[in-house]
Amino acid sequence: MTKVAVVGSINMDLVALVPRFPAPGETLIGSRFETFPGGKGANQAVAAARLGAEVAMVGCVGGDGFGRELLSGLAAEGVDTSAIHVSGEASTGVASILVSGGENTIVVVPGANHCLTPSMVEASEQLIASADVVLTQLEIPLETVEATARLASRHRVPLILNPAPAVRLSRALLDQVACLTPNEHELATVLGAPSLPFPDMLALLPGKVVMTKGEHGAYHVDGSGQFWHQPGFAVSAVDTTGAGDTFNAALAAAWQGGLRQAMRFAAAAAALSVTRLGAQGGMPSAAAVESFLQ
Ligand code: ADP
Repeated sequence: MTKVAVVGSINMDLVALVPRFPAPGETLIGSRFETFPGGKGANQAVAAARLGAEVAMVGCVGGDGFGRELLSGLAAEGVDTSAIHVSGEASTGVASILVSGGENTIVVVPGANHCLTPSMVEASEQLIASADVVLTQLEIPLETVEATARLASRHRVPLILNPAPAVRLSRALLDQVACLTPNEHELATVLGAPSLPFPDMLALLPGKVVMTKGEHGAYHVDGSGQFWHQPGFAVSAVDTTGAGDTFNAALAAAWQGGLRQAMRFAAAAAALSVTRLGAQGGMPSAAAVESFLQ
């Protein structure tokens, strides 16, 4: 079993279906309301656990009902929640989502996710040191991601950084990352190179980047400059929410078998995830991915 430590965000998604988007000052009656567990960190932790990894998560929720519900949901998925802090001040992170027609508007309030400090991660040094892979994203403070990278590097544990939402990253941080997993737009932002074609961007960080590109799959340039394309698997897509999270989790879960094999496993897991509704709803088991690949 691959041991994966996830350092990242935990949110509750609050989704309301509305006939149209309200104007400022207007009250509208919606037709339906649902809550879904979310946050890239928690999504990736759940996906990795379903794919058979032994997962522990470092994160922060508020001392409120959403926080308690999210913690018990993670535990029910088999994620070790003992390193998830409960903030005395901030509320649990939420994403308030209005859906109308095929479009949505989203307000994210990071809340407790922004209270995840470097010292909280340093307090989990043992958890990181004993992991086979560390997985993180950018929905927590950048200094906390940097602290995670320093710890992973100190203990020679490979770090997969999913740079979403993207910001420009320092060379020092990129040097400590084993694998960066942006989509094309995120890669341009991370590098500050918006006008380069993606093969040229990949060649700027040889051996480091696995770039995802929706139904086309994923691309990599290895340490000797060789270009590698893992095609996407043809499926009939129902909902692509969470495809990136499933891809990252699967890459971490399969990391020890080598990068090309991990990319193939990740593309298959992510393809299966888009055939079902919801981010966490579509995340497959290891057995489902293996039978899909046969
Ligand atoms: P993000 O949502 O982070 O931008 P992508 O859209 O690039 O991520 O999707 C991540 C991965 O999910 C892709 O590399 C691919 O393997 C898989 N994927 C996404 N959309 C589809 C699709 N329509 N059909 C098959 N695989 C898909």
